[in-house]
Amino acid sequence: MRDWLAREPIIITSGKGALLRDVNGKEYLDANSSIWTNLHGHGDPRIDAAIQRQLKKIAHSSALGLANEPASLLAEKLIAAANSDDAECGTRNAKLANASSIPRASRLTPHLTKVFFSDDGSTAMEVALKLAYEFARRQGQKRPRFLSLEGAYHGDTIGAVSLGHIDRFHKAYAGLLFKTDAVKAPYCYRCPFNRAKPQRADAREYRKCKWECVDAIEQKFAQQKRKRGPYSAMVIEPLIQGAAGMIPQPAGWLRRVAEIVRDHRAQLIADEVLTGFGRTGLGPPLSSETPHASPSLFACHHENVQPDFLALAKGMTAGYLPMAATLVTQAVFDAFLGEYSEFKTFFHGHSFTANQLGSAAALASLELLHTRSSLRARVQLEQSLRDQLQTLWPLGNVGDVRQVGLIAGVELVKNWKTRESFDLREQAGLRVCEAMARRGVLTRPIGNVIVVMPPYCTTAGQIEKIVSVLRQSIGDVLAESQDAR
Ligand SMILES: *Cc1c(COP(=O)(O)O)cnc(C)c1O
Repeated sequence: MRDWLAREPIIITSGKGALLRDVNGKEYLDANSSIWTNLHGHGDPRIDAAIQRQLKKIAHSSALGLANEPASLLAEKLIAAANSDDAECGTRNAKLANASSIPRASRLTPHLTKVFFSDDGSTAMEVALKLAYEFARRQGQKRPRFLSLEGAYHGDTIGAVSLGHIDRFHKAYAGLLFKTDAVKAPYCYRCPFNRAKPQRADAREYRKCKWECVDAIEQKFAQQKRKRGPYSAMVIEPLIQGAAGMIPQPAGWLRRVAEIVRDHRAQLIADEVLTGFGRTGLGPPLSSETPHASPSLFACHHENVQPDFLALAKGMTAGYLPMAATLVTQAVFDAFLGEYSEFKTFFHGHSFTANQLGSAAALASLELLHTRSSLRARVQLEQSLRDQLQTLWPLGNVGDVRQVGLIAGVELVKNWKTRESFDLREQAGLRVCEAMARRGVLTRPIGNVIVVMPPYCTTAGQIEKIVSVLRQSIGDVLAESQDAR
């Protein structure tokens, strides 16, 4: 806090596309999409117009005992997208699904059928947690218990914090939390089971292991079953753990873990607050002739996994307004269905649940995500990010460069050959980000990891600038950066 008080903050006044402008008229590239929320850029005329159109009708009315149009339409679209059978690309999908041996998300089970709206990622997870807890109890489990990953981050409310495992954020509140179990997350770059020496590539590509991390999860489930009865649910950030430090999972990890969860009849809670709405790229192409004709918007589907609970927020309104959703199965919904006198309903709701302005923005964003130009832009962005990030490998202070779709993390180290970390007190990540800000690129570090995840409208030229500013800033700030190789 002293550092914050001692400095003049950058005060943002406006934004257009991937650019932000401050009170002094200085421009910055928004290299972390305003903390991972913005999808199509700032001031997108189509989203602005959708919000303005809605504003002429009404900004907000309560969803307690009432419904409204935009939120109802949004729920329908979210369900379609989450089961990969949207109206827009439904017929196209069906044809391709028949033509291809690759299982499409539309064939995945369970079917997600119901939507609970709330305000942000934390509340979306809080809702998933409370529903999963009570669902398990109504299935006869006396003390439902949850498993999540080391380094997990699911939000800052007490339930979400209980599911999380980042000591620096969570330790102070230990007395307030309920107990959940943690299990090893796949962090290939620093995995004790990875016997490979450091190389100049994403650690997932050259790792040497026998999937011990997956075995650990299987063991954890088996052990729990013997001791206390089965886990009720496992919570996962699919494909990449965000606040843990942009830690990506090796291909096949999610699929394997989902099978373990299913084998043990536990529920799978997917926290796609960060990864949802196309952030993790378009997934594997259907074939070379029809690349990405029906891409799913969700990370789980890249490995043909369908969760029982899907939590969405950050990008849901394209980053324009605070709104979130928790998608669930019919089985969960039915567990809360009863006569008035049974009081089986889910006693949970927020004042701004199903907010109309947010719904209007989210509907407009979903439409944009399905356009050809958005698909093309995302394919190009993923590729230019991949190409540009390669230019970081010659730097001795770059230990790992990892990318999942349109999300990248660059882990700074003292010495790439030993993977030796900077002490957090050295503020390596913060200092590099400050140097980047001076050169007109804004992002926030997670400890020693620099996050690069710009809006989808970011051009190849802007990506080149973001990465070259990162490269120069590492050079400015960190001593060893020149003697790589
Ligand atoms: C940001 C985030 C949250 C919390 O979302 P808020 O909107 O900040 O409450 C939860 N889970 C994940 C994976 C996140 O990245």
